[in-house]
Amino acid sequence: MKIHLHFVALFALAAALPAWAHVHQHGVARLDVALEGQTLTLQLNIPMDSLLGYERRPRTVAEREAAAAVLAGLDPGSALWQPNPEAQCGLVKTTLVAPLLQSPAQPGVKDAEHADLDGSWEFRCAQADQLSSIELGLFDAFKRLQRLQVQVAGPKGQIKRELKRPNKLLNLTR
Ligand SMILES: [Zn+2]
Repeated sequence: MKIHLHFVALFALAAALPAWAHVHQHGVARLDVALEGQTLTLQLNIPMDSLLGYERRPRTVAEREAAAAVLAGLDPGSALWQPNPEAQCGLVKTTLVAPLLQSPAQPGVKDAEHADLDGSWEFRCAQADQLSSIELGLFDAFKRLQRLQVQVAGPKGQIKRELKRPNKLLNLTR
């Protein structure tokens, strides 16, 4: 498991974020897609509610197991993201930050009312100029997720898209 490696960074991040940074809309996730050279980076911000159905620490064994399964499904997460095969993209790095699941409760400190997971997936695409779409597994994996707000930054400029369940094809061309 890679998760414990991110512990230190998590603490720093959780402490640095003001309360307003956690405000989000349940059922809505944000995805930033960036293509630079051969490097395709996907950055996801998703409410814990969309992943687990709640935004507090898991309380029971069953909840802890379900939460661990969610994290395991996101890391490495190759099934979640399928760039069109012509681009020949391979996943090289996954980073997940979910303070609620990865850091212990701090005595005397109340958890925020909302909680997110931030995930980052980095691909290397041998034929990056062939990249035209990404098939997303998010709506299949997370039934509570309704909408995905997408920003794409690449050689063709910036594109904004909104995908609604059950549409899972993110078109990267205009
Ligand atoms: Zn929330």
